[in-house]
Amino acid sequence: MSSTIAQSVVDLLPSRPATLSNWIGGEPVEPAGNAYLDNINPATGVVISKIPRSQELDVHAALRAAQQAHESFKTTSYPERAALLDAIADQIELRKDEFAQAESLDTGKPFHVAKNVDISRAIANLRFFAGAIRHDETGCHMMGDALNYTVRKPLGVVALITPWNLPLYLLSWKLAPAIAMGNSIVAKPSELTPTTATLLAEVFNEVGAPKGLYNVVHGRGIEAGTALTNHPIVKAISFTGGTQTGRYVSQSGAEQFKKMSLEMGGKNAAIVFEDADLERTINGIRRASFLNQGQICLCASRILVQRSIYDVFVKGLVEAVKELKVGDPQHSSSDLGSLISSEHQQKVMGYVQSAIDDGGRVLCGGKVPDMPDAVQHGAWFQPTVIVDVETSCKISMEEVFGPVVVVHPFDTEEEAIAIANGTQYGLASTIWTQHLERAHRVAVAMDTGLVWVNTWLHRDLRTPFGGVKNSGIGREGGHYSLDFYSNPQNICISLPRI
Ligand code: NAP
Repeated sequence: MSSTIAQSVVDLLPSRPATLSNWIGGEPVEPAGNAYLDNINPATGVVISKIPRSQELDVHAALRAAQQAHESFKTTSYPERAALLDAIADQIELRKDEFAQAESLDTGKPFHVAKNVDISRAIANLRFFAGAIRHDETGCHMMGDALNYTVRKPLGVVALITPWNLPLYLLSWKLAPAIAMGNSIVAKPSELTPTTATLLAEVFNEVGAPKGLYNVVHGRGIEAGTALTNHPIVKAISFTGGTQTGRYVSQSGAEQFKKMSLEMGGKNAAIVFEDADLERTINGIRRASFLNQGQICLCASRILVQRSIYDVFVKGLVEAVKELKVGDPQHSSSDLGSLISSEHQQKVMGYVQSAIDDGGRVLCGGKVPDMPDAVQHGAWFQPTVIVDVETSCKISMEEVFGPVVVVHPFDTEEEAIAIANGTQYGLASTIWTQHLERAHRVAVAMDTGLVWVNTWLHRDLRTPFGGVKNSGIGREGGHYSLDFYSNPQNICISLPRI
């Protein structure tokens, strides 16, 4: 066992209370029912804190606080809101190690990934939307005898429901544009990853944000989440999570015609053509498949390889994947940490077994690695490459959301496109080729909201982000987010003819 992982949570995160609170109206508040859930560090299996198991009463209190805050916040100017977002970003930057440690302990991901991917991106999200409203322009349509101009009006109280894989990264991606547009917020983070959303509430107080602008209610989706999405005060729901949950959320919001943005699951294909730069492609696909233990909605989980290079590609990929180190999240040498929970570990193992039952061969991984005694109860899993299954089998059609990829051969461009598009999902795809025209042709043929060519997770925050089919409705990013969190109002002023 490594000594670092054995350190108590108190040593790693001294300022964290053992029992987290909801944050309502700028204050830590106990749940009305006084019930709590365990928050477990999945790398050790040890309970690291208790979190409120909130119910309707708690959610309603948070909504009232948010509504009250909105009354004054809606009249703030863009420069005031931009300054607030920048101040929040600055304060997170000052507490960056603490935020990263909290994210690592909640998720089991390596500390360096939490710091350099999750928390860095959260800061970037806040700064990006501060800049976006500083440089925003409004629509203006001239008629001969009138001038039309468009103003963006805040919606009111918005509900932000976020998953466990990138907790603060995704919360800030919603929260920053929501505040930029003058809304107030009730957030329901995943019960598995409650801490950074709570630290963020402290930051709001530290920078003097209006009380009640950002409220956090912890607890189960089926309890606290449902109470939130059902409530008429909520004017918009921004949800990121699984497709089945998205369906429930969508049904509950539809009744009251709430605005909805749904970012859901994926089963993303990487298509490798015979002219691809092999070394670059193998490195790129290894990162695209296994970053964050494969628990990113955008991860490539189906690798389609042109038959002429199939054997050499598979050999190279397996060698590269075997070099990945599963280990102590505190160590900078660990490439992969633990999965989010032992339940999720069981689910991932079940998918690997289903592939074996379907005739698949596991070329590397496929097992729980031997770990030191003190972390043997962690939710570990080896990075896994599987071949020789049909493209229609369970592991190729369903989202595993773990460090598991399947590789399939293909012969023609048309066949690759058909396999890539042949699932219920349509989030992202990657294409690996040096043939410019083919890259464009295949990219346009992808039924996905995002396509990367010879790269992955290369993000410009101005671009539209989101999926098609069962992967999502709506787009986030740049003005797409600003549009979602506001209602456009056209004002037409009669002008004298000149
Ligand atoms: P999940 O189980 O669907 O949960 C997402 C959030 O919804 C959690 O906060 C959850 O709370 C809450 N929730 C559950 N049931 C609810 C209900 N009936 N009403 C309201 N809220 C409810 O997803 P997850 O397991 O956390 O995350 C993994 C999934 O997210 C994967 O499918 C992944 O592809 C997807 N994802 C998509 C994107 C994207 O941009 N498209 C990005 C990241 C992740 P509790 O967990 O506390 O119950």
